[in-house]
Amino acid sequence: MIEPSPVHVPGAAALIALLLALIVTLLVVLLRRRSSERAYVAEIDDRRERLKLALWATGERYWDYDVASGQLRRLIDDAAGDAGTVEDSAPVETLLHPDDQPLARETLRRYLDGETGRYQAQVRVRDGAGGWAWMRVRGRAVARDAHGHVLRIAGTALNITATREAERERQIAAAVLRSMSEAVAVLDADFRYVSVNPAFLRMSGYAETEVLGRSASLVDTTRHEAAFHRQIRVQAAQQGQWSGEVWQRRKDGDELLTALELRTVRDADDGSVLHVCVFNDITQQKRTEQELRYLANFDTLTSLPNRSLLSERLSRAIVRAHRQDSRLAVLFLDLDRFKDINDSLGHAAGDRILRAAAVRLQQTVGEHHTVARLGGDEFTVVLEDLAQPHDAERMAREIINAFEAPLQLDDRREVSISPSIGISLYPDHAQVPTELLKQADTAMYQAKAAGRRTYMRYDDNMDLAVRQRATVSGALRKVLDRGELRLVFQPRMSLAPARITGVEALLRWSSPEHGDIPPSEFIPIAEESGLILEIGEWVLREACLVLQRWRQHGLDEMTVSVNVSVLQLLRGDFTGVVARVLADVGIPPHLLELELTESVLMANAEQTAARLQAFRALGVSLAIDDFGTGYSSLAYLKRLPITTIKIDKAFVDGLPHDAEDAAITPTIVAMAHSLGLRVVAEGVETEAQMRFLAERGCDEIQGFWISPPLDALQCLAFVRNWRPEGTPGTRHERIPALP
Ligand code: C2E
Ligand code: MG
Ligand code: MG
Repeated sequence: MIEPSPVHVPGAAALIALLLALIVTLLVVLLRRRSSERAYVAEIDDRRERLKLALWATGERYWDYDVASGQLRRLIDDAAGDAGTVEDSAPVETLLHPDDQPLARETLRRYLDGETGRYQAQVRVRDGAGGWAWMRVRGRAVARDAHGHVLRIAGTALNITATREAERERQIAAAVLRSMSEAVAVLDADFRYVSVNPAFLRMSGYAETEVLGRSASLVDTTRHEAAFHRQIRVQAAQQGQWSGEVWQRRKDGDELLTALELRTVRDADDGSVLHVCVFNDITQQKRTEQELRYLANFDTLTSLPNRSLLSERLSRAIVRAHRQDSRLAVLFLDLDRFKDINDSLGHAAGDRILRAAAVRLQQTVGEHHTVARLGGDEFTVVLEDLAQPHDAERMAREIINAFEAPLQLDDRREVSISPSIGISLYPDHAQVPTELLKQADTAMYQAKAAGRRTYMRYDDNMDLAVRQRATVSGALRKVLDRGELRLVFQPRMSLAPARITGVEALLRWSSPEHGDIPPSEFIPIAEESGLILEIGEWVLREACLVLQRWRQHGLDEMTVSVNVSVLQLLRGDFTGVVARVLADVGIPPHLLELELTESVLMANAEQTAARLQAFRALGVSLAIDDFGTGYSSLAYLKRLPITTIKIDKAFVDGLPHDAEDAAITPTIVAMAHSLGLRVVAEGVETEAQMRFLAERGCDEIQGFWISPPLDALQCLAFVRNWRPEGTPGTRHERIPALP
């Protein structure tokens, strides 16, 4: 840079010139150096400024730590926040959060000891605005002494407060998702699984690897149309949410109903879309709801509508009938003697009968009419759009006919059961469901009273009869306490030789309020209420006590027959009762005969046979009462351990002239004898009847021709005074009939 000057012989002028040249040269050199130094400083300044800017832009801040003094110099954001930074310097302990100081010290120790290649830690540092900021601090040694010991560390720090919070939130969210009982699936814009939680895997039965990346249609079922799923996607895209119930298919093929809540999340930065789906398995809940709804409206045994659904349908039918000015009928149906069958065959068989009856009934009236079960053996039919009132009766007849064919109980057994039906009509009888039902019920009771297996249409007089029945049944409860019951005795006479063999005890009820009530009226009520058990035991004991008194008057071969209701036979320990009464009173068992009606025995011959056998084992005689009125065949009787049959008065009435009676009665006698049974004819009122029966070999007779039922004292007198006159069975004396 300094050019060499030419060498001359020195002279004063030359010296001066040389000096000047030297000075100029020096000046130039100096000036040049100054300007290059300035450029150098400017360049450094420029670089530092750029570094600062770069650091500022990345969020990193420069720091410098003096190991010996513990002094930290750093750049922090200007409190004004406008991209500017300020530098401060302070002992490091005053800048670090007290909780993080142990960590910072330990990290430093490890770096200084050479365990780590650089200093790195996440600590809270004063932010220059009075608060703390989480900083990720990184640095390296920038000065060492001759021994290599670190003197200064410099590096950068990044404020990670926001990311740390976000990360923390993310971790919490992940933990919540993992532990949630609701299944959660995150789907991408194309409805492919991005992430699922364990509950989702449990619910769907898939493993995570089988799900991620697959389409959400993986769990679709055929229960929904494709359009349904399309609709969900469209709504999610347009409105950002969808909620509703969706059927899903598990991996094992099982289907489950879920309540789905879908929310669409849009990323603010890149606009990408995620659908967050939360599923709740509501299969069980739905099933329970359905079951409850079913239970509330349907009878579980027969699956027919129950009382509550019936009233609802009936109300609607009435509204329709009112609008269309038409007529409807309510048929109230009760199965005859169902209680006996239920008691004798057992409840399981009873249930099967009810189910079969329900099917038979619905088939007969057709699917478009409502058939309901109100409970027990009570059914109701609602017939709409009747052209005329008689249509209801025609339908009732059809129902009764349909029940002529026996109901199938199981593979081997069938049972015959008939209904009694009551009919009420809208608008003729009542306007509201409850009234119509009540009236049909009343009419049904009348149908029962009229002999069962029949129907009755309601009329106003029926209410009166029903009220009377209710008061009778109320009064009946008190009869035993009040001593309103008594027994009368009707003698029975053997034909060859002619003699009084025994008596039948018949029950009488004289009520102070209602007068004398015939047994045909109060015994069915006593049976329905179960009171017959108590009453029956009283009858048995009373009859035995009377017989015992007579025996003390010398009538020691007299027998007593006691009528027994089916309920006594089937419920409780009637054999035990009989044995006890006989023992208490001291009557030899062979002097007691129990009379059972035919229909009772036939309801279930096999089961009753076992019970009857127990009586026979006691030594008690057994008679079939009212023989011929039921359905039993003599062959059937062979299976029962009975001793006597009593031919019903209905077959005696026409003797000797009625050809049918004259043919039937001797046949019964002959067949009974062939089975080794004694035959008693009931209701013999004339000598001609007596003779006819005597000639046909009938063993005994009973009836007004000998004597009406008498009270105990009268009967004793009658028996003691009775003498056969000439031909067997000639009446001895006439005694006035008792009520
Ligand atoms: P049952 O056992 O067949 O009794 C015979 C019925 O015929 C009696 O009516 C009797 O008074 C009547 N009778 C007898 N001879 C004649 C006659 O020559 N002509 C007519 N017209 N009737 C005659 P009752 O006493 O009214 O009894 C009716 C039914 O009530 C009895 O029929 C029996 O099934 C039942 N019953 C009576 N007492 C009892 C009882 O203590 N317990 C039970 N469970 N039922 C009873
Ligand atoms: Mg009898
Ligand atoms: Mg009888």
